[in-house]
Amino acid sequence: MLWLLQTDSELTTTRSYYLSAEVPARAISLYECHLMTEGMPPTPLSTGVPRAAEMFPILTPAQLSRIRAHGRLRQVQKGEFLIRLGERTTRFFVVIAGQIELLRRSVTSDELFSFEPGMFTGEVSMLSGRNALVEIRASGPAEVIELDRERLLTLVQTDSELSDIFMRAFILRRVEIIAHGAGGVVIVGSAHCAGTLRVKEFLTRNGHPYSSMDLDRDPGAQDLLDRFHVALADVPVVICRGETVLRNPTNQQIADCLGFNEAIDKSELRDLIVVGAGPSGLAAAVYGASEGLDVLVVESDSPGGQAGSSSKIENYLGFPTGISGQELAGRAYTQAQKFGAQVMIASGATGLSCQHKPYAVVLGDGSRLLARAIIIATGARYRRLPIYNLAQFEGAGIYYCATFVESQLCTGEEVIVVGGGNSAGQAAVFLAQTARRVHILVRSEGLADSMSRFLIRRIEDNPSISLRTQTEITALEGESHLERVTWRNIVTGDIETHNIRHLFSMTGAVPWTDWLDGCLALDSKGFIKTGPGLSHDDLAAAEWPLARPPHLLETSLPGVFAVGDVRGGSLKRVASAVGEGSIAVAFVHQFLRQ
Ligand SMILES: Cc1cc2nc3c(=O)[nH]c(=O)nc-3n(C[C@H](O)[C@H](O)[C@H](O)COP(=O)(O)OP(=O)(O)OC[C@H]3O[C@@H](n4cnc5c(N)ncnc54)[C@H](O)[C@@H]3O)c2cc1C
Repeated sequence: MLWLLQTDSELTTTRSYYLSAEVPARAISLYECHLMTEGMPPTPLSTGVPRAAEMFPILTPAQLSRIRAHGRLRQVQKGEFLIRLGERTTRFFVVIAGQIELLRRSVTSDELFSFEPGMFTGEVSMLSGRNALVEIRASGPAEVIELDRERLLTLVQTDSELSDIFMRAFILRRVEIIAHGAGGVVIVGSAHCAGTLRVKEFLTRNGHPYSSMDLDRDPGAQDLLDRFHVALADVPVVICRGETVLRNPTNQQIADCLGFNEAIDKSELRDLIVVGAGPSGLAAAVYGASEGLDVLVVESDSPGGQAGSSSKIENYLGFPTGISGQELAGRAYTQAQKFGAQVMIASGATGLSCQHKPYAVVLGDGSRLLARAIIIATGARYRRLPIYNLAQFEGAGIYYCATFVESQLCTGEEVIVVGGGNSAGQAAVFLAQTARRVHILVRSEGLADSMSRFLIRRIEDNPSISLRTQTEITALEGESHLERVTWRNIVTGDIETHNIRHLFSMTGAVPWTDWLDGCLALDSKGFIKTGPGLSHDDLAAAEWPLARPPHLLETSLPGVFAVGDVRGGSLKRVASAVGEGSIAVAFVHQFLRQ
């Protein structure tokens, strides 16, 4: 990152960013700052990459004529920009004659690719209407078919052959963009800092590319922060869209900067709002949107929910070798967008306005999203260990999920997994691949009552995993990072302290229902009651206004449904969450027809 310091005095462009209030405003842009790339011609993007033919397919004349029916033919001139980096992706192009070129910029290089006749532009941003991660311009006079985003979505939903070709290409292109860290996001932070981990997870789970510089490994990064008076509390620093500098930003600030939600009109009255984008919410979005409902999903963090934090789900139908929660969530997210559902990221529901129709989901900024029907799919989160200084180490040794990102942090070290459910078992087996030793701690006498048999066998067969039953954590110690953990056997009272720096907490779940503020009947643990689970007293207390009883999955408020882990009596499994999300849509249709 030293290049930034060495070159910035020479730079004179119009975009600006400020690393420190004390530093005079400098008109510089990240891309112009790249010593590595500055003045260097872009390199041709290799067509030798795996699956290049699927990433950049050539359409047949028959396919081109079907696209032509949805768009307009137009001429473009040499040098004309068809899509500029960072602008909202609203247009899609297919080359008929001549050539247009794609410029993909990353921290280390700029790459060029030429679209020949029969090829098309676009990647996953096309579906959501988010900001473009690459630039497209004409390299000479060319003839193209231009489609706006709505027309493209219609085509994707009605022409299954083209849908397959586009979707495959879009996803593969996004994977390539992520692999190259293109797209203008750079994280400067420490691998041992909770905020850095959070930001990386947020971007990863949203499928957004980034490059990162590690303060612990890259002396240039530290120099940079010192020079610009960036204090420890300001880390991580996120350079967004190549031009704006965010200091220790919230996920919402990152989403705003990257324009994740720009395409969403908050004033529109929707057929259906789904609150929560875990498996149940995404299933509701896919089924709702594919059946013609106008669907908006509101997600307080990233799509995927708890499942998104699972290293490998092995009991979900159709994936005999298992699938990572992130991959499953990523596919579902893309699928929901393909059918036209909109997903609002890092913007949680803080209230439900249930006195009048249409109902309104209230957001943190006070805005109200109106809907004829609502599906609540807010799931649950792990209970926090009752240790007084737990918060000090969250993200700095205490983790609530075990994905590739966390596993890299504890390679070769000892780790603790607390909990006896399937999620804890999965985490232990996964971490044992890279950690030196995994200790599973449970308060119960064994795992048989809480964990699937196949996981118990894997744990028993793995010499790197030791199970400690009837044991609880009593103390955590460390400075900026967890360094020591003390546990106690609750039967013998024996206490042990170990130099262990990583603890994965995967204990019982608490529902996300505090935001509902008395609108719906809840059970004694705070889960939402639905359908037959609602007693006469519940309905009387809620002043249920209809002659019919609530539908299956309908709450004590007509037209408001609850699905997945947040629902009282639910099975706490991906398959049941997905099933409930899709079933609820059938009842939404019935409700809307009334
Ligand atoms: C590590 C782990 C491994 C697991 N492994 C398996 C497995 O192998 N097999 C299996 O069947 N099950 C597994 N599970 C359980 C499974 O993941 C859950 O049952 C499933 O994710 C529940 O889906 P859901 O959509 O109901 O809720 P969640 O997955 O909890 O999703 C809820 C979503 O709602 C969002 N949200 C919460 N509050 C708000 C709000 N106010 N506004 C907007 N959004 C909000 C959350 O951010 C979250 O994204 C595992 C769980 C974990 C944690």
